[in-house]
Amino acid sequence: MKYFLKCIDCGAEYPKTEIIYTCPKCDGLLDVIYDYDEIKASIDEKKLREEPPSVWKYKMLLPVDIDPVTINEGGTPLYKCDKLAKLIGVKELYVKHEGMNPTGSFKDRGMTVGVSKAIELGMETVACASTGNTSASLAIYGAKAGIPAIVLLPAGKVALGKVGQALMHGGKVIMIKGNFDDALVLVRKLCSEERIYLLNSINPYRLEGQKTIAFEIVDQLGFKVPDRVVLPVGNAGNITAINKGFKEFQKLGITDRRPKMTGIQTAGACPIVNAIKSGAEDITPEMNPETIATAIRIGNPVNAKKALSAIRESGGCAESVTDEELIEAQKALARLEGIGVEPASATSVAGLKKLVEAGVISKDEVVVCVTTGHLLKDPEEIIEICEEPVTVEPTIEALKSAIFE
Ligand SMILES: *Cc1c(COP(=O)(O)O)cnc(C)c1O
Ligand SMILES: [Zn+2]
Repeated sequence: MKYFLKCIDCGAEYPKTEIIYTCPKCDGLLDVIYDYDEIKASIDEKKLREEPPSVWKYKMLLPVDIDPVTINEGGTPLYKCDKLAKLIGVKELYVKHEGMNPTGSFKDRGMTVGVSKAIELGMETVACASTGNTSASLAIYGAKAGIPAIVLLPAGKVALGKVGQALMHGGKVIMIKGNFDDALVLVRKLCSEERIYLLNSINPYRLEGQKTIAFEIVDQLGFKVPDRVVLPVGNAGNITAINKGFKEFQKLGITDRRPKMTGIQTAGACPIVNAIKSGAEDITPEMNPETIATAIRIGNPVNAKKALSAIRESGGCAESVTDEELIEAQKALARLEGIGVEPASATSVAGLKKLVEAGVISKDEVVVCVTTGHLLKDPEEIIEICEEPVTVEPTIEALKSAIFE
């Protein structure tokens, strides 16, 4: 398959055989560029419409030339949420629940591609910095591929379920006394000095896997495009990736328009929101990001430049929500629709609610919220925000009084 890497800043091009993460000339972010005419000619229309969605259903649009390292990622449900739509006041609302991936987050889409790429490039060790989910995902794909996975986590700031997954799947877990941004600086240095393949979302191949969220949304809506896609933003890779997916389907003539990409952050960590609202060309990093949504507790998102242009060129916007607002949305998802998500994921619904109330999002829109990670990722948060269960003596009287009084 034909593709190459291109710098989004200086336009320099690099062959697919090179092991680079940013532009060697100007340090700009890289994009994977395909020959869309070739892809278009190779698409089997019948198969595209009939085969159930999954990451590797769209392999004609993925930059991997070997048999991939896969454990059946993607194919996550797209739930039509009428009760939540009514509560928020939009015409049609869907939730794409990425918590239903193998490790319980969308990171699996990026890692099946990223780890496959590592193998294709002959790399024998992979590494990442992570707020948690990336580490769980890297560990599982490292295990499947039979190569060591090194993960750097911010000490004390990772949800319990995620650390458990990284450990259980055999990742080499290292706690860094610092925040995610500090860990990312370190792992980038490590991978530049040692023969270790970097699999943070600065690696453009990760984003290629994640763009399949867009393909699946279109697919599951019967090849229709929603008016808007709302999702949490941390390092800002996913919003970039999903926007690229929609652009590619349009380029290939599979769809004829694109949704407005809408990014949500928390009030304690919102550099992207600040840049969008102030019209700034780049973000101002935040030194001490803080939020209950640890997955997006990021002050200096590496994909900021790509994400800002994705939001702007799609006609979208960005908004921040408080921890209280996201907890309310997390409970609404769980209790109205039966969708269990971790705190960061609920920002999509909280942000949608806020933007509809503010009149920024019209009530006539068809909206898809992406819930990025599963409820069980962060059991400690659940215990913190839910009412404690009652404990009773083992008698029918005590039981009835606990239920009925
Ligand atoms: C990684 C992650 C995000 C943020 O995605 P980015 O691509 O870093 O913006 C949001 N929610 C969850 C659950 C995540 O794991
Ligand atoms: Zn460059």
